[in-house]
Amino acid sequence: QARLLFPLMALMRVALEVQTSRALFARIFEYLDLTPAIVDAPDARDAAEAPGPVGRVEFRDVTFRYPDAAADAVPTLDGVSFVAEPGQTVAFVGPSGAGKTTVVYLAARLHEASSGAVLFAGADVRELTHESIVEKIGVVSQETYLFHATIAENLRYAKPDASDDDLIAACRDANIHDQIQRFEHGYDTVVGERGYRLSGGEKQRIAIARVLLKDPPVLLLDEATSALDTVSERIVQVALDRAAEGRTTLVVAHRLSTIADADVIHVVDGGRIVESGTAAELTAAGGLFARLKAEQRD
Ligand code: ADP
Ligand code: MG
Repeated sequence: QARLLFPLMALMRVALEVQTSRALFARIFEYLDLTPAIVDAPDARDAAEAPGPVGRVEFRDVTFRYPDAAADAVPTLDGVSFVAEPGQTVAFVGPSGAGKTTVVYLAARLHEASSGAVLFAGADVRELTHESIVEKIGVVSQETYLFHATIAENLRYAKPDASDDDLIAACRDANIHDQIQRFEHGYDTVVGERGYRLSGGEKQRIAIARVLLKDPPVLLLDEATSALDTVSERIVQVALDRAAEGRTTLVVAHRLSTIADADVIHVVDGGRIVESGTAAELTAAGGLFARLKAEQRD
C-alpha cells in the first residue's frame, strides 16, 4: 500500500492535468499498472447535476487519516471546514507538514474524507462520478509531468480538438508562446523524458497553458512556483494570476506575497485551520500568519 502511494499520487496529478477521456485515463493507469483508488458509487451522478453552482468547493468538518498511518496517529486533517465560492481565490498557508497538500488532494477527490464531507457544487463528492469532478478541475503543482511527445501533443491532452490558434492563445496567456517559437521545431519540439529539456519555469508555463485550454471552473495550485528561481517565479506567477481569473482557485502558497490578494487565507497548522481572514486582517491579528510573514521578510 505505502509503496504505491507516491507514484499513485504523482500519477493522479498527471491524470488531473491531462485527463479528457476515460480512454486516456485508462491508458495512463495501464502504463504504470495502477488503478484509481476511488471507485464510483453505483448510483453516482454527474457533477453537472449537482444542486449548487459549479465552482463551489466546500469542506464540512473534514477529518482525514492516510490509509497507511498508524491507527493511534493524530489525523492529518482534523475538523477542516471552509467554503470557496465560484470565482474566489482561497489560500492555504502554514508550516511544512501542516496538511495543505492533503487539502488539495481531498478537494480533487484523490482521497476521501475519513469523516465529514467534501462538497462539489453543493453535492457530496461521494455521490458524484469521479470523472465528472476531475473534468472540472485543473491542477498545477510543483512537478509538472510532460509526456515524451511534442509540445503541441502535450497541450492537446487537455483538449484534443484544440486548433493551432487555441494552442497559441493559451501559450500566449501562459507567457510561453514566444519561448516556444524560439525552439528550432517550435510547437513540434519533442519534450518529456529523453526529449528537449525544458526549464522548470517553462514546464510550469506549459502546465498553465494546458489548464487554460481545459478551461475548468476550479483550479488547484499547490506551491506551483516554489521550485523556481525568483525570475521565473515572477513570470509564472503572472500566468497563474491570469489563469485564476474567473475560476474558483484553491492555492497553497509558499511565498506569502503571492497570495496577498486572496479573498480568504486559511492558516493551517497540525491539520487544523487555526486562523482565517484576509492578509490585512491576519497581519493585524498578530498570530501565526503574522509570524510566518515576519520570517519571510528578507
Ligand atoms: P503540507 O503540504 O502542508 O506540507 P502534507 O499535506 O503534504 O503537508 O502532509 C501533511 C502530513 O501528512 C505530513 O505529516 C505528512 O507526512 C503526512 N502525509 C503526507 N502524505 C502521506 C501519505 N501518502 N501517507 C501517509 N502520510 C502522509
Ligand atoms: Mg505540500
